[in-house]
Amino acid sequence: MNSGSRKIRIGNGYDIHRLVPGRKLILGGVLLSHPDQLGLEGHSDADVLSHAITDALLGALSLGDIGKYFPPEDPQWKDVDSLYLLSQVVELINEAGWEIVNVDSVVIAERPKLKPQIETIRDNLARKLRVDLDRVGVKATTNEKLGPEGREEGISSYAVALLEQL
Ligand code: MG
Repeated sequence: MNSGSRKIRIGNGYDIHRLVPGRKLILGGVLLSHPDQLGLEGHSDADVLSHAITDALLGALSLGDIGKYFPPEDPQWKDVDSLYLLSQVVELINEAGWEIVNVDSVVIAERPKLKPQIETIRDNLARKLRVDLDRVGVKATTNEKLGPEGREEGISSYAVALLEQL
Protein backbone atom coordinates (compact mmCIF):
# COMPACT_ATOMS: atom_id res chain seq x y z
CA MET A 1 0.00 0.00 0.00
CA ASN A 2 1.25 3.44 -0.88
CA SER A 3 0.44 5.30 2.31
CA GLY A 4 1.40 8.56 0.62
CA SER A 5 -1.64 8.45 -1.67
CA ARG A 6 -4.17 6.50 0.38
CA LYS A 7 -5.26 8.24 3.53
CA ILE A 8 -7.24 6.17 6.01
CA ARG A 9 -8.51 6.89 9.51
CA ILE A 10 -10.02 4.70 12.23
CA GLY A 11 -12.53 5.67 14.92
CA ASN A 12 -14.25 3.94 17.82
CA GLY A 13 -17.50 4.61 19.61
CA TYR A 14 -19.27 3.37 22.74
CA ASP A 15 -22.69 3.99 24.25
CA ILE A 16 -24.98 2.64 26.95
CA HIS A 17 -28.60 3.46 27.83
CA ARG A 18 -30.80 2.32 30.68
CA LEU A 19 -33.54 -0.25 30.19
CA VAL A 20 -36.79 1.07 31.64
CA PRO A 21 -40.53 0.36 31.34
CA GLY A 22 -42.63 2.57 29.10
CA ARG A 23 -40.01 3.23 26.42
CA LYS A 24 -39.41 1.78 22.98
CA LEU A 25 -36.48 -0.54 22.29
CA ILE A 26 -34.89 0.63 19.04
CA LEU A 27 -31.56 -0.69 17.75
CA GLY A 28 -30.19 0.32 14.36
CA GLY A 29 -33.56 1.94 13.67
CA VAL A 30 -35.46 -1.34 14.18
CA LEU A 31 -38.22 -1.50 16.79
CA LEU A 32 -37.68 -4.62 18.90
CA SER A 33 -39.86 -6.29 21.48
CA HIS A 34 -38.42 -6.96 24.95
CA PRO A 35 -39.97 -9.92 26.83
CA ASP A 36 -40.59 -7.63 29.85
CA GLN A 37 -41.70 -4.67 27.70
CA LEU A 38 -38.58 -2.69 28.57
CA GLY A 39 -37.10 -0.03 26.32
CA LEU A 40 -34.18 2.38 26.31
CA GLU A 41 -34.26 5.65 28.22
CA GLY A 42 -32.84 8.79 26.66
CA HIS A 43 -33.53 12.21 25.23
CA SER A 44 -33.48 10.87 21.67
CA ASP A 45 -34.89 7.45 20.76
CA ALA A 46 -31.87 6.09 22.73
CA ASP A 47 -30.70 3.83 19.89
CA VAL A 48 -27.34 2.83 21.44
CA LEU A 49 -26.14 1.03 18.33
CA SER A 50 -26.68 4.04 16.05
CA HIS A 51 -25.07 6.29 18.68
CA ALA A 52 -21.94 4.11 18.96
CA ILE A 53 -21.56 4.03 15.15
CA THR A 54 -22.11 7.81 14.91
CA ASP A 55 -19.38 8.38 17.50
CA ALA A 56 -17.01 6.00 15.68
CA LEU A 57 -17.47 8.01 12.45
CA LEU A 58 -16.92 11.34 14.21
CA GLY A 59 -13.96 9.89 16.12
CA ALA A 60 -12.22 8.79 12.92
CA LEU A 61 -11.95 12.43 11.86
CA SER A 62 -11.40 13.76 15.41
CA LEU A 63 -14.65 15.72 15.09
CA GLY A 64 -15.82 15.22 18.67
CA ASP A 65 -18.88 13.23 19.68
CA ILE A 66 -22.60 12.99 19.01
CA GLY A 67 -23.44 15.31 21.95
CA LYS A 68 -21.44 18.13 20.34
CA TYR A 69 -23.68 18.13 17.24
CA PHE A 70 -26.97 17.05 18.82
CA PRO A 71 -26.90 18.25 22.45
CA PRO A 72 -29.37 16.40 24.71
CA GLU A 73 -30.40 19.79 26.20
CA ASP A 74 -31.74 20.83 22.81
CA PRO A 75 -35.51 20.16 22.61
CA GLN A 76 -35.36 19.65 18.84
CA TRP A 77 -33.59 16.29 19.42
CA LYS A 78 -36.23 14.95 21.81
CA ASP A 79 -37.27 11.44 20.72
CA VAL A 80 -35.43 12.01 17.42
CA ASP A 81 -34.81 9.02 15.14
CA SER A 82 -31.10 8.35 15.71
CA LEU A 83 -30.73 7.08 12.14
CA TYR A 84 -31.42 10.68 11.12
CA LEU A 85 -28.52 11.85 13.32
CA LEU A 86 -26.35 9.13 11.79
CA SER A 87 -27.22 10.22 8.26
CA GLN A 88 -26.39 13.83 9.14
CA VAL A 89 -22.93 12.75 10.31
CA VAL A 90 -22.42 10.64 7.17
CA GLU A 91 -23.21 13.76 5.14
CA LEU A 92 -20.69 15.76 7.18
CA ILE A 93 -18.00 13.14 6.55
CA ASN A 94 -18.75 12.88 2.83
CA GLU A 95 -18.71 16.67 2.49
CA ALA A 96 -15.31 16.74 4.22
CA GLY A 97 -14.05 14.45 1.44
CA TRP A 98 -14.10 11.08 3.20
CA GLU A 99 -15.98 7.84 2.58
CA ILE A 100 -16.67 4.87 4.80
CA VAL A 101 -14.60 1.74 4.11
CA ASN A 102 -16.42 -0.34 6.71
CA VAL A 103 -18.09 -0.27 10.09
CA ASP A 104 -18.18 -3.05 12.65
CA SER A 105 -20.23 -3.10 15.83
CA VAL A 106 -21.46 -5.20 18.71
CA VAL A 107 -24.55 -4.88 20.90
CA ILE A 108 -24.41 -6.23 24.47
CA ALA A 109 -27.85 -7.29 25.69
CA GLU A 110 -29.16 -10.28 27.64
CA ARG A 111 -32.54 -10.03 25.95
CA PRO A 112 -34.16 -9.94 23.47
CA LYS A 113 -32.27 -12.17 21.04
CA LEU A 114 -31.21 -9.90 18.17
CA LYS A 115 -30.42 -12.62 15.66
CA PRO A 116 -33.85 -12.65 13.93
CA GLN A 117 -33.60 -8.88 13.27
CA ILE A 118 -29.89 -8.47 12.62
CA GLU A 119 -30.14 -8.49 8.82
CA THR A 120 -32.85 -5.82 8.95
CA ILE A 121 -30.66 -3.75 11.28
CA ARG A 122 -27.62 -4.12 8.97
CA ASP A 123 -29.70 -3.18 5.96
CA ASN A 124 -31.03 -0.04 7.71
CA LEU A 125 -27.55 1.02 8.75
CA ALA A 126 -25.97 0.33 5.33
CA ARG A 127 -28.56 2.60 3.67
CA LYS A 128 -27.85 5.46 6.08
CA LEU A 129 -24.09 4.90 5.85
CA ARG A 130 -24.40 4.83 2.03
CA VAL A 131 -22.28 1.69 1.74
CA ASP A 132 -22.87 -1.89 0.58
CA LEU A 133 -24.27 -4.34 3.09
CA ASP A 134 -21.00 -6.32 3.27
CA ARG A 135 -19.31 -3.25 4.78
CA VAL A 136 -21.55 -3.17 7.85
CA GLY A 137 -20.97 -5.64 10.67
CA VAL A 138 -23.48 -5.96 13.51
CA LYS A 139 -22.92 -8.60 16.15
CA ALA A 140 -24.83 -9.37 19.32
CA THR A 141 -23.68 -10.92 22.56
CA THR A 142 -25.00 -11.35 26.06
CA ASN A 143 -22.83 -10.29 29.00
CA GLU A 144 -23.20 -13.73 30.63
CA LYS A 145 -25.44 -12.06 33.25
CA LEU A 146 -22.47 -9.98 34.45
CA GLY A 147 -22.45 -6.21 35.00
CA PRO A 148 -25.20 -3.70 34.11
CA GLU A 149 -26.01 -5.34 30.77
CA GLY A 150 -26.09 -8.76 32.44
CA ARG A 151 -28.51 -7.52 35.11
CA GLU A 152 -30.60 -5.96 32.32
CA GLU A 153 -30.15 -2.49 33.73
CA GLY A 154 -29.08 -1.33 30.28
CA ILE A 155 -27.94 -2.19 26.78
CA SER A 156 -24.56 -1.06 25.45
CA SER A 157 -22.82 -1.00 22.10
CA TYR A 158 -19.30 -0.66 20.72
CA ALA A 159 -18.41 0.28 17.14
CA VAL A 160 -15.37 0.91 14.98
CA ALA A 161 -15.29 2.71 11.64
CA LEU A 162 -12.63 2.93 8.96
CA LEU A 163 -12.68 5.93 6.61
CA GLU A 164 -10.76 6.62 3.41
CA GLN A 165 -10.12 10.02 1.90
CA LEU A 166 -11.70 10.40 -1.52
MG1 MG B 1 -26.61 7.66 23.46
